[in-house]
Amino acid sequence: MTKRNVWPGLSRGFVGKCPNCGEGRLFRAFLKVESPCAACGHDNAQYPSDDAPPYFTILIVGHVVIAPLVVLPVIWTLPPLLILAVALPVVAALTLALLPRVKGAVIGVHWAIKQNEGAIPGQDDPPAWAPATPEGPPTGR
Ligand SMILES: [Zn+2]
Repeated sequence: MTKRNVWPGLSRGFVGKCPNCGEGRLFRAFLKVESPCAACGHDNAQYPSDDAPPYFTILIVGHVVIAPLVVLPVIWTLPPLLILAVALPVVAALTLALLPRVKGAVIGVHWAIKQNEGAIPGQDDPPAWAPATPEGPPTGR
């Protein structure tokens, strides 16, 4: 089993390219993964990103927008409606710009660590009680 580096997958996914080849598009719509890749045929839809992209996007946008509000008290001398009129569009624009990039990066990292690769949904999912070993649950003997 060949090992993959995290950085190429992360950076290719961040710019919206297929983490496997770096040439094909990763998304066919705003957040819809194009699978298989038009350039290399790799199935990029097999990598679950779930809630990680919104979580990391909120983390980044929150730090970018909230930090100046905390560090620069001069901002609070302005009228609150003016602060909201500036901050809310910035939050919306940053969120919409970062979300697909962060999702691409998460998919790229999953490609690098081969998360869920080759699994058949519903068939290869281990039951919740199963231990990490392939022998099955402990029998007590
Ligand atoms: Zn590809």
